[in-house]
Amino acid sequence: MKINCHCHIFSLDCVPLEFRKRFVLDVKNSVHRFIHRLLRIILPNDSNLQAWIDLLDLSISEIAHRLVQEMDEAGMDISTPLMMDMEFCKGFGGGATKSFQVQANETIEAVESVNRKYGRTRLYPFIAADPNREGVVDIVIDALKGGVFKGVHPVKSPKGGSQAAFHGVKIYPVMGFTPDDKRLYPIYEYCMDSGIPITAHCENGGIPGLDDYYHLAHPKYWGIVLNDFPGLKLNLAHNDRTGSPWQPVIADLIMRYPNVYTDCSYDTEMMFIPRKYFRSIKQMLNTPKIQDRLLYGTDWYMGRCFWTEKSYLKWFTTYSRRIPWCRVEFTGEEIKRMTEDQGEIYRGGDKENDGRQSREIPGVQLKNIEMRAGIVVSTQGAGSRKLPFPK
Ligand SMILES: [Zn+2]
Repeated sequence: MKINCHCHIFSLDCVPLEFRKRFVLDVKNSVHRFIHRLLRIILPNDSNLQAWIDLLDLSISEIAHRLVQEMDEAGMDISTPLMMDMEFCKGFGGGATKSFQVQANETIEAVESVNRKYGRTRLYPFIAADPNREGVVDIVIDALKGGVFKGVHPVKSPKGGSQAAFHGVKIYPVMGFTPDDKRLYPIYEYCMDSGIPITAHCENGGIPGLDDYYHLAHPKYWGIVLNDFPGLKLNLAHNDRTGSPWQPVIADLIMRYPNVYTDCSYDTEMMFIPRKYFRSIKQMLNTPKIQDRLLYGTDWYMGRCFWTEKSYLKWFTTYSRRIPWCRVEFTGEEIKRMTEDQGEIYRGGDKENDGRQSREIPGVQLKNIEMRAGIVVSTQGAGSRKLPFPK
């Protein structure tokens, strides 16, 4: 079962207005709309940039369904869409985003809609945690237990509650905090005790315009956290950049702790320095311990202007081997380890019950997050129901 451990389905209105204004992405601005229309006319119909621009107008649910279409083209079984909480983004002055509760509810409804349509788990959502949000601990833990904002915020699913829930947590320090912020510790404790995965942006880069905040994502802060929560299941996403000073820190944490991972999501290095990049990935896949902690991810749809779900995978399976100035070949076993085995362990999936034959997942298993969260493939329930660049 192939798993993309890093993607997004949030809509553009979840992003601070200041960002949208600065990068000509305010779909309510007539000038911006005119530019988008012009690009649609100029660009070839099947261009990646055109497909990316088309996503700017879509709802969370529409984006989710678009993602699964691309997953099918790529042969991907499951993806883990990561929410973003950008309301307190210091770099863009925060605010002016869709309400976090509404985003969470729409995410769950979109996931339910997709999973119901396909009769099995296709999407496995993570909720964002920003320590600057009042009541973040209760909000996140409630959401992980299956009650979206139950008892904390009055927002409910339109059909009176949902069986689906969030299955992991997304941490994006570049919003203006460090991972060792003590306000997040109760969440870390809960996640460690429950085997719930956390994905953290771990690259000295990311959303354009936030250069002054990239350093907050340094893996050294996770060293402090892991000292207190050594069993935490943690993905230090992006693995920074090939040869950077952050990479040995990430590798050291992987070697020292049993549940620390990294992922290969949104890496333009594969296009610009393919030989260096793929050699590094190959080396990781042949280094004891590290070979078992490299997750596959694409960061869809942040890089949708460069690649599709299918072409991102092809960089590993085909292009890396064929490009004359690269010539790095991955074995089937290496590809499988990265795209299938690790992701399954990371998300704590149930291979038997989560497969194509599954209609509903019964019962409870200790430390199985989808059991405690009551997953997804309900044949009843709520009906279904807009950003670029967070990496
Ligand atoms: Zn991302």
